[in-house]
Formats: sequence, structure tokens, C-alpha cells
Amino acid sequence: MSADDLDERLRELIREVPDFPKKGISFKDLTPLMAAPEAFRAAVDAMAARCAKSGWRIDRVACPEARGFIFGAALAYRLGVGMAPIRKPGKLPYKTARMEYALEYGTDAVEMHIDAVSPGQRILLVDDVLATGGTLQACVRLVEKAGGIVAGCAFVVELAFLSGRKKLEGYPVFSLVTYS
Ligand code: AMP
Repeated sequence: MSADDLDERLRELIREVPDFPKKGISFKDLTPLMAAPEAFRAAVDAMAARCAKSGWRIDRVACPEARGFIFGAALAYRLGVGMAPIRKPGKLPYKTARMEYALEYGTDAVEMHIDAVSPGQRILLVDDVLATGGTLQACVRLVEKAGGIVAGCAFVVELAFLSGRKKLEGYPVFSLVTYS
């Protein structure tokens, strides 16, 4: 599939759900894309190809719950590396490191097992959607706190009008489908 064909096919399969989870938000629902075997595989293969083309050396994938796990795990399998889950507080069973981040109102946090990333390991961060970038920025900081090196950040969808890339300035970023 050419890059243009893939872009068109993925857009067809990304369902926009208005006013979810709250009024004014147009939610990009990737479940139809995940349900279409050839498109799901093509999306994961395209992400792997972009990593290879960019020459990123990747030792491990790290990805935030919940939808980041879906693409992160598939991509880790495809790349032949392991995967480190990043979760909301209190979900991981072993000792964790935590990173707090600001929300519009209040704060939130992400956690990762203390042995999920080793010093010097090159980490690919993966999520389904780059929106404001707050979540991924916290994940970057968490990986770096553990001594990991962020090799790149990969997304299926980017909402460019929310300027999430600004929060990831200085890090290599790609997305398969951009909404401007
Ligand atoms: P962010 O604003 O980049 O921190 O986004 C937080 C998380 O919510 C990301 O992991 C995205 O997967 C998800 N998210 C944010 N906005 C949307 C949206 N409009 N559609 C689908 N997922 C979203």
C-alpha cells in the first residue's frame, strides 16, 4: 500500500465521536481501524518502517495505557523488542517510579516499574493519539528519570491543532495520520 493509500484507508477507519468524553471534544475512535485486519497490520508495519527509515536504534518500546498498549505491544512484537507499560497510579504491582503532570485543572501522574527501563536503553514511546502532548511529555520524563534515552515518539494520529509537538520539542516524532 502506498503512503497516500494508507493515509486514506486509515482516515476512513478512524471514527470521530463528537462530544466524547466531554462536550466540545471530537474523539478519534480507532476501534474500527483495529478491527480491520489488513489496516491494523498496515498501520503497525508502517510505524516499524518509519522507525527503520529514521535510523532509530530501539531497545524497548514504552507506552501509556490504555490505547498506547494496543499499538505499542504490536509494534514491539514487530520490531522484535520488549515492551514497558506506563500506567495510571496504583495499577502496577511491583515498585514504581512516578511522574506528575499538569492538567487543565489539577494534576495527574504516570507510573512505570523501576526495572522497566535500564540506564542507557534506547526507548521508543508509542501512543495512539498525540493531542496536547501532556501525557507523552510525562512519559518522556519518566523514561529519562530511569536513565533511558528517548529514541523517538510514534503515534497513529496527531491532532496538530493542539500543538502536542511543542511539548516534545527536541525529540524525534512521527505520526501516520495528521488532522490540522
Ligand atoms: P494528551 O492531551 O496528548 O495528553 O492526550 C491524552 C491521552 O488522551 C492520549 O493518550 C490520547 O490517546 C487521548 N486523547 C486525547 N485527545 C483525544 C482525542 N480527541 N481522541 C482520541 N484520544 C484522545
